Amino acid sequence: MIDACSHEPSPLLFIEDALDRIKTAVHPVSGTEKLPLNNALGRVLAEPVYSPINIPHDRNAAMDGYAFASCDRVDGQAFTLSLAGTSWAGRPFQGQMQTGQCVRIFTGAVVPEQADSVIMQEQVQIQGQTIYCSVDTRTLQNIREIGEDVKQGACLIAQPKKLTAVDLGLLASAGIEQVTVKRQLRIACFSTGDELTALGQPLESGKIYDSNRAMLSGLLADPCYSVVDLGVIPDNKQLLEDSLIEASKNVDVIITTGGASVGEADYVKEILHSCGEVNFWKIAIKPGKPLAFGKIGSCHFFGLPGNPVAVVVTFQQIVAPALRQLSGAPAFKPLRFTATCTTALKKSPGRQEYQRGILSQDQNSQFFVASAGRQGSNILSSMGQSGCYIVLPKECNGVQAGDKVTVEPFSLLI
Ligand code: AMP
Ligand code: MG
Repeated sequence: MIDACSHEPSPLLFIEDALDRIKTAVHPVSGTEKLPLNNALGRVLAEPVYSPINIPHDRNAAMDGYAFASCDRVDGQAFTLSLAGTSWAGRPFQGQMQTGQCVRIFTGAVVPEQADSVIMQEQVQIQGQTIYCSVDTRTLQNIREIGEDVKQGACLIAQPKKLTAVDLGLLASAGIEQVTVKRQLRIACFSTGDELTALGQPLESGKIYDSNRAMLSGLLADPCYSVVDLGVIPDNKQLLEDSLIEASKNVDVIITTGGASVGEADYVKEILHSCGEVNFWKIAIKPGKPLAFGKIGSCHFFGLPGNPVAVVVTFQQIVAPALRQLSGAPAFKPLRFTATCTTALKKSPGRQEYQRGILSQDQNSQFFVASAGRQGSNILSSMGQSGCYIVLPKECNGVQAGDKVTVEPFSLLI
């Protein structure tokens, strides 16, 4: 069997080992800030939040109906109650309910102290001020108890957690106006390459538009990150070095694309060696083999490959978990499951591959995946048309139609 990596001067690092090395090398930022709840979506909660109140705060009705005391009825017998008043949501009944009385009540309204049951309005007949009921009722039926959702003092949300819309709702239900979250991670990005042309400029022969920076700004669109776009740096060693050193003083992470390979104009690894530390720079994955990870001073550095598909794959598989860990968010394992591959896939053993696939599900809920077409690391169009990676392990030597494969649906951002 031909190993696609047999020509490599030194063995490539397996992705599991690369991720382990990253896990050891990065530590969550320690700074925090207080934010109003409205600005906290997607931020990482820095301390647990406890409920200052019971939720619900009052005993209230779960239905529109009539609140009464169950001692006013006998099991199995129809009963009659007289109407004493109304309890509206937000405007409780002010009087005293006497024996044999009931109160008209609406969902969310406070249940009068003397009542222990609410009967649905659909189950009664009304004549003037008299309510007739012929169905059996239970004590506490249709009543939401004080603290049945959250008890006063209970932990509402444990940290660390990236706050979701539901979390904001839960915090608001406890009256919490502000939360303490981890500070944003400062990230600088730039593209390298003499061929790169800014959007809005005419494209000269031999040049290409810079698609990586546009893509990275989308991939980094996360409330936990504050991103500085440093534009395009040409393939000039001194300029690149100066830019990296300058950026490393101001941010927690630098992400570059291009120039990470072994070509004449690929200076990234060399510079990282001379002005920082290289942790690794070649991984046994495809696309995305040349990926430099290291540090310049206290700043983490990711030198991604130049080809756009390799940028997305390495970002998602390697950089994103590192950024999450740095921002203090809990680790996140992307969903992977098995599907039947409906097309043959070419692959040589040696590297773990992330091929682009089109996922479908039949009426029996079985998953199928087909190749999204050309798999070159420059073919961004096939990525846009696909919905998942087909993850082929390093030892895989190709796939026949009908074989089972592992798929990983793309996150919403791509
Ligand atoms: P490099 O790693 O610099 O050798 O680049 C590998 C390939 O990716 C080359 O074909 C580059 O032209 C292309 N490339 C590099 N940077 C970008 C970019 N920012 N946008 C689109 N393509 C790029
Ligand atoms: Mg280049």
